[in-house]
Amino acid sequence: PVSQPVTVIGLGPMGQAMAAAYLDRGYEVTVWNRTPSRADALVERGATLAADPEQALLANELVILSLIDYDAMYTALRGAEHAVAGRVLVNLSSDTPQKAREAARWVTELGGTHLTGGVLSPPPGIGSPDMSTFYSGPRAAYDKHRAALEVITGKTDHRGQDPGLAALMYQLNMVIFWPAMLSYWQAVALAATHGLTAADIAPYAAENFAGMGQFLDFYAPRIDAGNHAGDVDRISMGLASMEHVVHTNADAGVDTAFPRAVLDAFRRGTDAGYGADSFSRLVELLKQPA
Ligand code: NDP
Repeated sequence: PVSQPVTVIGLGPMGQAMAAAYLDRGYEVTVWNRTPSRADALVERGATLAADPEQALLANELVILSLIDYDAMYTALRGAEHAVAGRVLVNLSSDTPQKAREAARWVTELGGTHLTGGVLSPPPGIGSPDMSTFYSGPRAAYDKHRAALEVITGKTDHRGQDPGLAALMYQLNMVIFWPAMLSYWQAVALAATHGLTAADIAPYAAENFAGMGQFLDFYAPRIDAGNHAGDVDRISMGLASMEHVVHTNADAGVDTAFPRAVLDAFRRGTDAGYGADSFSRLVELLKQPA
């Protein structure tokens, strides 16, 4: 082998893409998956299918985990705990920062090292130099295995020692990503009632998303300075605008649950007496449960 060998546990679309990226680079790859057939194409390309999770762990020091969540790790590794000692488990399964911290403690107590990762790429981007992954946990393990980690995504960003940090950074991205995409699905559903297709409105949606950075640049320093002046926008204006959004969807007969949730946030703002402030004031309301 031209490089250190690596184990990949979990062969969903992400794990398969990761194992394939390692094979592309000439790594010796051992894989394990609960449903063994998902390894077929990789085995055909030269990967070794471990008989069980224990063998997968024992095969290599560097072990990539790509499972649906952290609970799946405990399920998969039950009975193989003794094989964790001396291994560096790079956990690229997504879950909460708390789950990541618990897992890091569990792995450390078993004599292994846990690196938390949050991959900011869909499966087709795995192996690309342009994609990026957050990491956190022991810096020495990250430094030691950096070349191998950069096979998964060319860019890596070690956020710190706290194993929860990479999970947090990943979740912050998901907090933005899923609702943003859902807002487009909502627009597509509404557009369809007027005979417009997803492709028809995609360029306009893309321009809308592309402009978001300017709004963040404008509001972020003001929020951090506690400045919610209503000089460019007011919550009362946002409330009226979101009412138009809800009514436009309702009139068209499409689902209104998502826009109504946004409307509700604006209404909380005016109910709290902030109607004349910028809608950035809603950040203060969102800091505690409604
Ligand atoms: P999934 O999230 O569907 O994860 C599938 C993998 O988890 C399979 O290997 C599956 O095994 C395994 N698994 C699930 N439950 C168990 C269990 N109880 N015991 C053992 N193994 C189990 O697929 P992805 O590959 O898409 O995602 C993997 C991780 O990467 C997830 O945490 C996801 O959030 C994250 N991610 C995904 C992205 C994407 O675009 N897909 C992008 C960025 C991150 P089996 O094959 O037997 O079902």
